[in-house]
Amino acid sequence: MEAFTWWSDEHKSLADEVGKFVDRVMPRAEEAFWEREFPRDILASIAEEGYFGAGVPKEYGGMGLGATGACIVIEEVSRMPGVGWIFGAAMLGGWHQVIDFGTEEQKKRFLPRMVKGELGAVAMTEPAVGTDIAGIETFARREGDKYIIHGKKRFVTGTGVADRYMLYARTSDDPEDIRRHRHLTGFIVEKGMPGFTIEKINEVMGFDNVPNGYLSLVDVPVPLANRIGEEGEGWRVMVLSLNYERALVSAQVLGTMRETLRAVVSYGQRRIQFDKPTIDIPTNQFKVADMMAKLKLARLSTYYAAQRLDSGQDAAVDCSICKVFNTDVAVEVGVEAIQVMGGDGTTKFYPLQRILNESKVAQIAGGTNEAIKLTIYRMGLKAMADDFKMPHRVRHSKLGVPITSADRPKKLSKIDEDSLLAVLAEDYRVNPGLYMSREDLKEAFDVSDTELDKVLLALESKQLVRLHRKGEAITLAKATYEGLKKANPPEHYRWFPPWVKDEDIF
Ligand SMILES: Cc1cc2nc3c(=O)[nH]c(=O)nc-3n(C[C@H](O)[C@H](O)[C@H](O)COP(=O)(O)OP(=O)(O)OC[C@H]3O[C@@H](n4cnc5c(N)ncnc54)[C@H](O)[C@@H]3O)c2cc1C
Repeated sequence: MEAFTWWSDEHKSLADEVGKFVDRVMPRAEEAFWEREFPRDILASIAEEGYFGAGVPKEYGGMGLGATGACIVIEEVSRMPGVGWIFGAAMLGGWHQVIDFGTEEQKKRFLPRMVKGELGAVAMTEPAVGTDIAGIETFARREGDKYIIHGKKRFVTGTGVADRYMLYARTSDDPEDIRRHRHLTGFIVEKGMPGFTIEKINEVMGFDNVPNGYLSLVDVPVPLANRIGEEGEGWRVMVLSLNYERALVSAQVLGTMRETLRAVVSYGQRRIQFDKPTIDIPTNQFKVADMMAKLKLARLSTYYAAQRLDSGQDAAVDCSICKVFNTDVAVEVGVEAIQVMGGDGTTKFYPLQRILNESKVAQIAGGTNEAIKLTIYRMGLKAMADDFKMPHRVRHSKLGVPITSADRPKKLSKIDEDSLLAVLAEDYRVNPGLYMSREDLKEAFDVSDTELDKVLLALESKQLVRLHRKGEAITLAKATYEGLKKANPPEHYRWFPPWVKDEDIF
């Protein structure tokens, strides 16, 4: 694995060691895949090496290497069939939820178990609740020092093999709590608790020897001591945990992409058609070059997001971007790699078919890429608001064309219909197809929102201005043709480039 310059020496040696470990156990992982046998022995070896503790702080027995350490491990172990899913689920089954929201007692109780390789899982999704995860129906009712949980979960990776289930349940039906996302609570539900059973195991593409299934909870008593965070804090616990989940899924497909490239390049160097290796065919080289570029960019994006998580910065947008980017390019890389290998690529005798299946699932698990794009858009818009500010543009005095201006005009301290119409008319000369935002208008007038609205409404009533509203609030304004006519004579709006002949102008 290529190490990044900002990694510590411990990260670098971890990467080196896990890589060698995976090379050693790969034959057994492939055997387990063909036999459809859950790779319990491999997971036990991963635990023996201490890799389950990569992201766990040292005081709880871990390596203290943060999200970067956990990503390094999952990248390497995901080269093996299915193993990455279980490693990821074990982390998501409480790792940073306990670190970030757990009490000291919970940290001491759960984290060392995690380090020793106890498997975990995360249970958010339900039969009727997928992307719209705020609608969780599984209910937890407080009774003294325990909660009684009733409901179902599905698509839980690690169902059955996991001992610990980081599960989210509804604890309030109060509409105000729901509106404020204070209606969910996180719990660690453990194998063996009365009423906690498996309902079904799915047959899922890419999950040939790894269980994913449905859980049934019939009045399961869960001690208060297993509640993670406060009652009503579950949404926060879940949303923050999704950042880690997305970083881990991103790192997981790095391992599979690396295996894909290894297979396709080494195959193409040995396959002769038309008397030359198929890797020498330029179109195959272009495909491989694209694959390399996608892998490199995906790795940068992932470890940048992990670094932000580790340095305590807000990483929601970065984790979302790498989850979408990496899983999308992993599918593209998988499809193209099969094409480069031809018929052999489609067989199970090379790893590409299995990897493509795993990559496809990764576009859905951890939140679908469509849902995550909405997060990127909404949060990115806020996070990058300064970058998206419209530049102040004016009409150039000589050229007559719109040009960016560093100088803001002096704000007018008074507003009336004529001055507001004049500003909107000037904006028409610069941005004829656009409305002006409230912020744009407040750059021109040093007046209160109430004063501004009063004049805008007066102009609207005379049909001199067209307004756009969000709910009741006026957000955008534009002069109508009548408004432009009232503000200036027609010549004021005319402009022609010098090459247009006078005789062609009417
Ligand atoms: C193999 C596998 C493993 C999984 N592991 C786990 C696990 O361990 N724990 C767990 O809790 N869950 C797990 N999941 C569940 C996963 O998180 C959900 O499948 C995912 O969130 C989507 O929910 P859904 O399948 O119900 O699809 P739906 O929500 O029904 O969505 C169907 C389609 O509509 C689109 N869509 C939905 N809403 C919107 C919207 N607002 N805007 C745009 N498009 C939208 C989706 O993108 C999708 O294409 C796993 C899923 C799979 C397939």
